[in-house]
Amino acid sequence: MNISVIGTGYVGTVSAACFAELGHKVICVDIDRSKIDQINAGIPPIYEEGLSELLKKHAGKNLSATSDYDFALMNSEVSLISVGTPSDPDGNIDLGIVRAASTSLGAALKNKNGYHVFVVKSTVVPETTEKVVLPIIEKNSGKHQGDFGIAMNPEFLREGKAVYDFMHPDKIVVGSMDKRSGDIVASLYRGLECEITRTNPRTAEMIKYANNAFLATKISFSNEIGNICKELGIDTYEVMKAVGKDFRIGPNFLNAGAGFGGSCFPKDVKALIGKAKEIGYEPILLKSVIMVNEGQPGRMVWLLKSRIGTLKGKKITVLGLAFKNDTDDIRESRAIPVIKELLDNGAIVSAYDPMANENMRKIFKRVEYHSSAEDALRGSDACLVMTEWDEFKSLESEFDVMKNKLLIDGRHMLTPKRDIEYIGLCW
Ligand code: NAD
Repeated sequence: MNISVIGTGYVGTVSAACFAELGHKVICVDIDRSKIDQINAGIPPIYEEGLSELLKKHAGKNLSATSDYDFALMNSEVSLISVGTPSDPDGNIDLGIVRAASTSLGAALKNKNGYHVFVVKSTVVPETTEKVVLPIIEKNSGKHQGDFGIAMNPEFLREGKAVYDFMHPDKIVVGSMDKRSGDIVASLYRGLECEITRTNPRTAEMIKYANNAFLATKISFSNEIGNICKELGIDTYEVMKAVGKDFRIGPNFLNAGAGFGGSCFPKDVKALIGKAKEIGYEPILLKSVIMVNEGQPGRMVWLLKSRIGTLKGKKITVLGLAFKNDTDDIRESRAIPVIKELLDNGAIVSAYDPMANENMRKIFKRVEYHSSAEDALRGSDACLVMTEWDEFKSLESEFDVMKNKLLIDGRHMLTPKRDIEYIGLCW
């Protein structure tokens, strides 16, 4: 099938490359010229394992990029909207980019004959596809639902493992307003071994939020238990390992630590809170999930201060800047509030991340960025571990260059070593 993918960020680029790998012809559309040029040159605009190989294989053949909506629509039968859905200043979902993309798609549809299906892949709060995207496309095209198809197909991939997850999904959800468009969307995934859940758009939208909210809840729950364990001298990892053996609970997402970040969990839980309030429901549990999460970075700095006192003039090393390992994405990284608090307290911050130094430099210019953990640790008064990068596990002699060997681990990454004072955040 001929597909256009609107928005070539993490989801758009990975989906486009993977759909090309599944045999479809894909046109990417973005307003960012540099991303278009990169994709056409076979260079991924973001880092994801396996993405570079796929783009090299398909760019210039069955994968191309453009800023021309008319061209994309004329040359495809399905358009996937995968633009960003950030939070507004109150935490509610900001649908401005989805509206802009829907307006452009509607205008392009006006000049097209033949059936076209619009699929919302972005994470949007329930009712958005029906009450926001559909009316905008109708208004700008002069056509009505039925003349074209509309569906919602949430994305569940994990950053860092996005290509693998796309090709090996544990669920595919297709919410459509009519069978014809739903069948077309489902057919895009032919070749993947996965049951497809068919439903309506608002249920599909809610499945995505319920999914992320539940995972975020598991993490905040583990962090709360972890904070209590820490005060009682109990290792929360020992506790949760046993708890996770209960088949009703399961072992995943029970890792206590510095909290969740990334482009999805924080904003999606906040967006669901906003939607619930809009309809007059006070989501007490979801609000607590966010509150616990926002407290964890402060606990890192509090532990640090409890050991070395004032931070003024002290050199503190932050190991790990990305919101998780295997990505250069720093959106909502827990390292951000930690670094901010360190700087506010007058500390000199030295940092190292295998991939995310350059992205973090855009936020904090005053931080000293290094190209190795050892360089970042030289002369340091303490080290905070913020990201679960594999390479941190094998750090050993690198700590010898510290002035004061104090290590506060926010990710349960390191084992206590000989002459280093090791403090776990919740263990
Ligand atoms: P992103 O910010 O990385 O990418 C969005 C892209 O859209 C950018 O390249 C931007 O230039 C482009 N864009 C902006 N306005 C445009 C317009 N009018 N027309 C065409 N392109 C435009 O976003 P992302 O992380 O890929 O997320 C996209 C959506 O997918 C969000 O709703 C997000 O919540 C959801 N999602 C993300 C992930 C993830 O891991 N990142 C996982 C599942 C779902």
